[in-house]
Amino acid sequence: MTTSSASGDRKGLLIDFTLCIGCEACMQGCREANDLEVPPPGAPPPEALNAENYTIVLPHEVNGETVYVRHLCMHCAEPACVSACPVAALTKRDDGAVVYDGDLCFGCRYCMIACPFHVPRYTWSKAVPVVRKCILCYHRLDEDREPACAAACPTGATRFGPRDLLLRIARERIRTQPERYTDHIYGEHEAGGTDVLMLAPAKFAALGHDAQVPHRALPELTWFVQKRIPWVIVTGSVLLGGIHWVVHRRMQLAKEGADDPATGGASGAHSGEGS
Ligand code: SF4
Ligand code: SF4
Ligand code: SF4
Repeated sequence: MTTSSASGDRKGLLIDFTLCIGCEACMQGCREANDLEVPPPGAPPPEALNAENYTIVLPHEVNGETVYVRHLCMHCAEPACVSACPVAALTKRDDGAVVYDGDLCFGCRYCMIACPFHVPRYTWSKAVPVVRKCILCYHRLDEDREPACAAACPTGATRFGPRDLLLRIARERIRTQPERYTDHIYGEHEAGGTDVLMLAPAKFAALGHDAQVPHRALPELTWFVQKRIPWVIVTGSVLLGGIHWVVHRRMQLAKEGADDPATGGASGAHSGEGS
């Protein structure tokens, strides 16, 4: 894993809301590929990203039509979450995926504050809390397989490929069908450019996507802010956050061990979830 590479090496997703039928096959495919909890039958669909839903599809009414809108990690070219993490638990791979290592994370949650798209979630209730977000199915990329959401999509609304190619496709769709699309490829410039790109029939602000995300890479801004915070405060916050996390983790493990007769009082939990 490395920091960001030339755009030509990077892959991503093109999500075209005009093709989405709201079937949620992408959500289901994501759950299966990433061992996420399956909701019980009849459960209402999630209204926001959460630790068990790396992606969601939300309906919006626009001019009497329903537009289905996906949300997920945008896999920024220069991710603010990566630059904010003091222990490199988040990294940007050459293929574009921004991935997470739960063994390195100590729970400061700076990534959650830094993300301009408000994506990372935290498993507060778990014995070993971790950060959760879309990881571009990097385990599938390593096997030359496309992300599960792209593989599951029955309409081509979610498409996987090299970012440069996806960008050309998106521009061509807007050029040849201007009546179908708003003239904006979300992710082309937001946060300095992202490897997830989106097309829509209406302005993104009307569809629940933040239109105010700056067009410059956010790590610059993160560094700007951090530079102005005395390092002793940052270090103290990190240490306190780490101590709190370790104490919470030990208490949870002890409680689980006490509750579980099979362990005879010893903890049976394991670490490293979510890497
Ligand atoms: S969208 Fe947020 S979590 Fe995803 S790579 Fe960008 S900064 Fe990180
Ligand atoms: S790329 Fe993989 S992890 Fe991300 S939303 Fe799609 S299926 Fe889920
Ligand atoms: S699988 Fe495709 S068509 Fe179905 S909800 Fe997801 S993006 Fe839309």
